[in-house]
Amino acid sequence: MIHYAIAKVFGPIFFGRGFCGWACWTAAFLDWLPIAENKPVPKKYTFIRFPVFAISILIPYIFIAKGYDFMHTHIYENLGKYDQLIWFLVGNGIYYVLAIPLAFIFKKKRAFCKIICPVSLVMKVPSSIALLRMEPSKKECIECKLCDKNCPMDVNPMKYIKEGKKITSTECILCDNCKNICPVGAIK
Ligand code: SF4
Ligand code: SF4
Ligand code: SF4
Repeated sequence: MIHYAIAKVFGPIFFGRGFCGWACWTAAFLDWLPIAENKPVPKKYTFIRFPVFAISILIPYIFIAKGYDFMHTHIYENLGKYDQLIWFLVGNGIYYVLAIPLAFIFKKKRAFCKIICPVSLVMKVPSSIALLRMEPSKKECIECKLCDKNCPMDVNPMKYIKEGKKITSTECILCDNCKNICPVGAIK
């Protein structure tokens, strides 16, 4: 709950989806995959996140309704089949089992983030009012589109920068790729 509060619910009011860009252990592994391409994920697939989110809420609800005592069953105690540690490992295992093939199928390391990750939907809400944003510098954009091609989250940063606007998309994970690749330093 502490992790969720800081990284995913209240923290994003300040640093948006910085957790996704800098701290997520799933994405850390995905970023190492040997995939050179960064193809945009077709928008129709990004809606799969919504039923996944509903299922991810439903599963714990069913077990709690069936009498699972999450307040008193602690990690390292009762390593039975419903133990929290096993849930944690199984949950993360499911992430990797889905995320690695998706990255190769869609030729995009973070395809999982765009298509499946239910947590992204939680973070998008507070991120909509985030204080920290990528923004245009005083240098003029030459419309080379390198930022668009290298954005891992298909944000299309050029659209914002060209118009002199901050990048307000809740898909932006503040990874700095666009800033680092820009040949004229138009993004800060
Ligand atoms: S969208 Fe999900 S998997 Fe991707 S970086 Fe964010 S929390 Fe991690
Ligand atoms: S490349 Fe830029 S716009 Fe895209 S996610 Fe990273 S910081 Fe945000
Ligand atoms: S990389 Fe820089 S110059 Fe090129 S389109 Fe993006 S903001 Fe403009």
